[in-house]
Amino acid sequence: MNDGDRTAERRDLVSALRRRLDVSEQTLSAIGAVPRHEFVPEAHRESAYADRPLPIGHDQTISAPHMVALMTDLLDVERGDRVFEVGTGCGYHAAVVAEVVGPGNVLSAERVPELAAAARERLARLGYDVAVAAADGREAFLDEAPFDAAYLTCAAPEAVPDAVVDRVRAGGRVVAPVREGGRQRLVRLTLREGGIDREDHGGVRFVPMR
Ligand code: SAH
Repeated sequence: MNDGDRTAERRDLVSALRRRLDVSEQTLSAIGAVPRHEFVPEAHRESAYADRPLPIGHDQTISAPHMVALMTDLLDVERGDRVFEVGTGCGYHAAVVAEVVGPGNVLSAERVPELAAAARERLARLGYDVAVAAADGREAFLDEAPFDAAYLTCAAPEAVPDAVVDRVRAGGRVVAPVREGGRQRLVRLTLREGGIDREDHGGVRFVPMR
């Protein structure tokens, strides 16, 4: 059997996520399309399709597939929507979202220059048209607003920074881990005309936003 692209393992991962999570087929098919093994360091390639985070260097991690699936689903985006990501890391989550919204519609900021450069190169090599800025997410792509949705893959201290929320159009969504006391909660903000709806989606563990 030729499974150099690890299609069977990916199919098994998607089946497991389908049983475990209440997420759309659109989200599951995006997970099924992205070669996660291309995003993890050589030393962790064997575990690329296990449902857990893995180290990617610089004290950072690639999120577990179920978390990427859940957050992508909460963005509630469709083809053509424009999405802003804070925390590119290795670029995996950006690739999953790009599978949903299409080329040129994901713009991502990463503050560690080496990670940003590696993610940019990797995404391009794999055919993903994702813009990566080596910058703080509070400052990147200001000219590109408004976005239909934004998400953080690092935990915001206390609240999602206004600099990120302000970049999303009315009716749009922001999905982020937010620190509360010593813990983190996954929250989704929906920007309404008269204010912001906030939903809690459970306890999570992410690297801190710097
Ligand atoms: N999106 C990744 C997960 C990356 S881990 C995935 O696909 O799995 C979170 C990343 O957020 C780290 O690479 C970290 O360097 C970055 N980060 C932390 N604070 C940031 C900030 N203020 N602006 C941009 N990136 C930030």
